[in-house]
Amino acid sequence: TKEDVRACFMRNAFVIFTVAAVIIGIGLGFAMRRYKLSHREVRFFSFPGELLMRMLQMLVLPLLVSSLITGMAALDSRASGKMGLRAVIYYTSTTVIAVFIGIVMVLVIHPGKGSRDEFTNQQKVEQVSPADAFLDLIRIKYLSNLLFQKHVSPNIVEACTTQYKTQYAKRVIHVKMTVNDSIFSLNGSQEISREELIPVLGRVNGINALGLVVFSMAFGLIIGSMREQGQPLKDFFDCLNEAIMRLVAIIMWYAPVGILFLIAGKIMEMDDISDMGGQLAMYTVTVICGLLVHAILVLPTLYFVVTRKNPFVFIGGLMQALVTALGTSSSSATLPITFKCLEENNKVDKRVTRFVLPVGATINMDGTALYEALAAIFIAQVNNYDLNFGQILTISITATAASIGAAGIPQAGLVTMVIVLTSVGLPTDDITLIIAVDWFLDRLRTTTNVLGDSIGAGIVEHLSRHELHKKDPEVGNSVLEE
Ligand code: ASP
Repeated sequence: TKEDVRACFMRNAFVIFTVAAVIIGIGLGFAMRRYKLSHREVRFFSFPGELLMRMLQMLVLPLLVSSLITGMAALDSRASGKMGLRAVIYYTSTTVIAVFIGIVMVLVIHPGKGSRDEFTNQQKVEQVSPADAFLDLIRIKYLSNLLFQKHVSPNIVEACTTQYKTQYAKRVIHVKMTVNDSIFSLNGSQEISREELIPVLGRVNGINALGLVVFSMAFGLIIGSMREQGQPLKDFFDCLNEAIMRLVAIIMWYAPVGILFLIAGKIMEMDDISDMGGQLAMYTVTVICGLLVHAILVLPTLYFVVTRKNPFVFIGGLMQALVTALGTSSSSATLPITFKCLEENNKVDKRVTRFVLPVGATINMDGTALYEALAAIFIAQVNNYDLNFGQILTISITATAASIGAAGIPQAGLVTMVIVLTSVGLPTDDITLIIAVDWFLDRLRTTTNVLGDSIGAGIVEHLSRHELHKKDPEVGNSVLEE
């Protein structure tokens, strides 16, 4: 029909625009490099990109709340329990696979060449027990902010400021690394201990997403159980969700412009590639290989095995979300677009996306998990530090936890790396070794994260198809239908 033709055109136009934006962005970035603009000038130049970032971030929190509440209210508790269990099994297994791939890649390719024999003698490393490392993670994690630190309540304003917070976190790490012997140092003279740093990282890294997710799920379930009485609230959040999605539809037209400038701005500012040492280049290649194996081999195969549908058609429908992840390096900022792609292009049931996507974007980060394990072992290799099996196991556990703990904001994974490194006594200073390429690898792992969440939604929908069509004998209509 005419409608279909129009939808098809729009979809392809979006894909073409966004892919073109990436290519033009890269070209423009490299072309502008010769003018050697200052940081401030680059920020002026890439302002259209910053605008996109902020528009998306502005929508994330109301979207997260309204979609989870309506998603939960549309399910009965039995159905949501089953669906939740499937999602959790999917998240855990794919994250574990990702970590495994990361470890195998870095052990096989061995990008770190052990250039620092003096490591064990000279550098004092504060060895932290795995139990401490784990608790640190919980402290860093959003829950701690909610429960222990009386962190300011999350709101739209806060959502807009998170980017600066990661910038700040990086500065903390940077400064710490320029001052050799101190544990942590804020401005070169003022030293802070690990105990003091953890809350700082927690504040920096935590938009209070997990607390919000838990609250919205509970609230949605309650509204759902209230039946007619809960209807006004259900309608309200439904309407809120719909309104936000309409805003997203408008922003999607602007997205290619924003992505173009985000990418161009970043390329103008990056360090010279020719300065990059051989080890770092090898490291970058190793990360890319690992992410590719996970994103192009493992996840599609899993999707195919479970659903018997063509995974690449599914991925094709996600193109704009994937490119947005590449441009923004934030899976939460990409969330609105991920919703659109899944619901409109891939026709995934709204009751599924509303329920599993916000949770996935908050805790399921395959790319980040893979990256953290790989990076930690790379740093060990550079230091000629032989890891035994137990330590590799510790790294895999803390990397999994660190990926759950990382917020979906740019380079959050770099911040939670501190935990992985300290769990096996590796020098956190060495995060500087990889900081130069992190902006780039961050984009790739974010894209993998978004892909993992989306394929998860497809798989959970398929597994839950019976519940989604079941009739409720009491009410006479579908239990799950709104
Ligand atoms: N930037 C990533 C994300 O938003 C998190 C990370 O730094 O690994 O998914």
